[in-house]
Amino acid sequence: MATAMLEPSQRLRDLFSKGSQVDINHNVPIRRYYRSCQELMRMASVYLEEKDLENSYILYAKYIVLSVEKLKTHPDFNNVPAAEKAANRKALKLAFEKAEKLKPLLKNKYEEAYKKYIQQQERATELARLEKEKRRQEEENIKAEIENQKRQLEKEQMDAFLNERRRKELEMERLEIEAKYSDQAAKDTKQPLLPIDFALPPIFCNSSSSTENTSAIATAGVAVQIPPKAATTKPAINRSLKPTLITDNSTVSNVHNVDQLSTSFTASLTISKNKYGLRTIVSPSELSSKFMKCAEANTCKNIETCGVLFGKLANEEFVITHILIPHQIGAPDSCDTTREEDMWDFQDQYNGICLGWIHSHPSQTAFLSSVDLHTHYPYQCLMPESVAIVCSGKFNEVGYFMLTPDHGMNVIGNCRKIGFHPHPSNPALFEACDHVKVSSSQKVEIVDWRKK
Ligand SMILES: [Zn+2]
Ligand SMILES: [Zn+2]
Repeated sequence: MATAMLEPSQRLRDLFSKGSQVDINHNVPIRRYYRSCQELMRMASVYLEEKDLENSYILYAKYIVLSVEKLKTHPDFNNVPAAEKAANRKALKLAFEKAEKLKPLLKNKYEEAYKKYIQQQERATELARLEKEKRRQEEENIKAEIENQKRQLEKEQMDAFLNERRRKELEMERLEIEAKYSDQAAKDTKQPLLPIDFALPPIFCNSSSSTENTSAIATAGVAVQIPPKAATTKPAINRSLKPTLITDNSTVSNVHNVDQLSTSFTASLTISKNKYGLRTIVSPSELSSKFMKCAEANTCKNIETCGVLFGKLANEEFVITHILIPHQIGAPDSCDTTREEDMWDFQDQYNGICLGWIHSHPSQTAFLSSVDLHTHYPYQCLMPESVAIVCSGKFNEVGYFMLTPDHGMNVIGNCRKIGFHPHPSNPALFEACDHVKVSSSQKVEIVDWRKK
């Protein structure tokens, strides 16, 4: 490759001078030189046939130089027969022609090689430049990383300082509240902040809806299981609790076929504070269908599903934003959460306000059973606006219920029975909420923790 870096015409000149490096030894008879010249011509011709252009050219060059310059210098030159000289001149003409034909071929070849060489040089230069650029970039990245780590460390130190300061402030606040609270508690020791029986959800009872059977046993404080057959023999009893059978107009009007929901609810429930002074709860219209989709598998197996409603307060209105589906055990007519911590974990995570609960009735209409009334009690006790949403899978209806604030809250708050049991049904213990507004402009997110 070393010759490739030479300029093509220079290479051609070099090739010719290589051929001309031939000396005449006067001790060698001149006829031998004439023989040698013939051999040169033959060899040159063979090289040419074999496409060995360089060696062919060198030999023609050698022939030319010998014939034109060197042979003349031999002392016996004048003794060479004229015929020999004539043959030599004839071959010389041919040698010139051949050499002249070889020149452009060789030149092309050398130019090609030279071009390749230049390209390789350029590539090598480019590679070197890229390599250098890469190294520079790597050095820059390392520098940036070091700088970044430094900043991160400074930020962490600052955060730790701020957190510590905040912690101290909170501790001070806590101590102040504690001091105030202990003063208050000393004055009023007989008034607990929460009802004693508040627990979420209430005791699970996998009984049927036969109120007579359950009440007798439940009074004794035992959770019972009555075979489904018992329920079918007395199907009408729990129906007395159904809102459709209660003569309260508001109750009846607020159980809707879901198809009519969006129009009737938005039309009737736009008051910001209702007759009890309750703030409006905005319930996204997609809520019931989304929940029922989530409950679908259970509904098919005739098993209830329950969820807890969470939301936010804005402009004196509550908006339901999330339904938490906690760990639970469902039955055809009841549903019991099994991990109360789910609710606290959820609130820690989402900062939501608990606005009630929702559950499905796979095969019954939308109403609150005696167990449902007890389940709802603590919700409404803590948050008077709390709503119990009941979705009937079979009858395709959704009810938004609450205990009547005076009578219903009083009766259920004082009832110590568990499982399904009868309550005095007149006046009504629960009614449809008129402070719930269904809105299609709000969205609700279902957070299903059952498999968590
Ligand atoms: Zn129910
Ligand atoms: Zn009761």
